[in-house]
Amino acid sequence: MYDVIIVGAGASGLICALECARNGKKVLLLEKDPQPGRKILVSGNGRCNITNRFVSVADYHGPQKLLENALKNFPFEFCVRYFEQLGIPLREEENGRFFPATGKSTSVLEPLKLALQEAGAELLTGQEVTRIKTGGSFGVQTRQGQIFKSKKLVLACGSCAYPQLSGTQSGYQLAKSLGHSIIPPTPALCALTLKEKAVARLQGIRVQAALTARRQEQVFAQSQGEVLFTNYGVNGPAVLNISAAVIRQLAQGPVQLDMNLFAATADFNALMQARKEQFGTRRAKDFFAGLLHENIANLLIDFAGVRKNMPVRDWTPNTWQNIVRTLQKWTFNVTGARPWQEAMAASGGVNTSEINYNTFESLKCPGLFITGELLDVDGHSGGFNLHFAWSSGFTAARKLSEV
Ligand SMILES: Cc1cc2nc3c(=O)[nH]c(=O)nc-3n(C[C@H](O)[C@H](O)[C@H](O)COP(=O)(O)OP(=O)(O)OC[C@H]3O[C@@H](n4cnc5c(N)ncnc54)[C@H](O)[C@@H]3O)c2cc1C
Repeated sequence: MYDVIIVGAGASGLICALECARNGKKVLLLEKDPQPGRKILVSGNGRCNITNRFVSVADYHGPQKLLENALKNFPFEFCVRYFEQLGIPLREEENGRFFPATGKSTSVLEPLKLALQEAGAELLTGQEVTRIKTGGSFGVQTRQGQIFKSKKLVLACGSCAYPQLSGTQSGYQLAKSLGHSIIPPTPALCALTLKEKAVARLQGIRVQAALTARRQEQVFAQSQGEVLFTNYGVNGPAVLNISAAVIRQLAQGPVQLDMNLFAATADFNALMQARKEQFGTRRAKDFFAGLLHENIANLLIDFAGVRKNMPVRDWTPNTWQNIVRTLQKWTFNVTGARPWQEAMAASGGVNTSEINYNTFESLKCPGLFITGELLDVDGHSGGFNLHFAWSSGFTAARKLSEV
């Protein structure tokens, strides 16, 4: 009989197991894959962006109180100290993102595994939990035919995102079997497909832009940063950060994305007017040289229906205004998200209204705790999802250690 069985050795399960074991609990961590923490290894392009200096409730979709509690129990400074005490020096990069100083995600996973072993927790890999029996204690059955028993149980199975690397529906099914409802998962941190096929002409071009996502005039998400044009639509950090909200809204109806290519320019209209006075004799295609990538300029000129050889000073006022306006508000129609194989996280999951916001204990099944990405919580790109996985696992362990 274990004190605690934790299902899923990802970020959330590993930290929860470590803290429970450090607090004297007899812990078993079950992992379906041959290796634990595969998403830790792949995160941040193999460098593991473990947290962010600016982490706050505003970086997440999820209930404010639950997020406040998780971030209070495991704040940014504490997170940095925690990993440094595990023997992992950290390094800060732009926008407050923290990585192991070695620049390798194995530098996070290996010390975690060693600490787990030193604390006395048992880790069994290649054991996929398929059935859980309740009734005083938990009976945990695996596909491999083993049965384990525990007083408390933690589901830290992650989401169905990135199925090629441990993403699975399994956690939703187990949570459902224990009385929980599931908000249907949708891709988060994912590139978006656009109706405007012409963007394929811009494939590979990166721009700095401000994005506004709206349904008709109702703005619901905004972001600023790098946008990468692809053959199907748009990708890049600014897109990833609004992707979850866009995909959730798409279920209700059409979504438009406005792109401002000159959000950082104080008075863009004045800049364009001055440019017209200086370079008005140039042909359309030359007028934008130095200001815009050539392919973007060509696409805009085609959209506006302007002859490429016509000097800019001969454009009608309407054409001029159209192009200046488009540079600040280029509207695209979103058709969807790229497949789950390309989603770095999931929105949706176990309904958080069924979870105790202070402890992550289930309100449906006493003794059960649910943490990490399996819950209907998702964060922006930049270390926020891992931070939630750590902080929720850590918070649950606190309560489990009290018992
Ligand atoms: C490509 C990529 C890049 C990312 N980059 C970043 C980043 O830079 N920064 C960031 O903050 N986040 C990033 N993320 C997201 C982050 O990795 C996840 O949010 C985080 O790992 C979730 O942790 P978790 O413990 O909740 O779930 P997971 O890490 O998914 O762990 C769940 C574990 O449970 C196991 N499991 C599932 N079901 C069962 C079962 N029935 N029995 C036994 N075991 C089971 C799984 O195999 C898995 O090992 C990235 C994700 C991907 C895919």
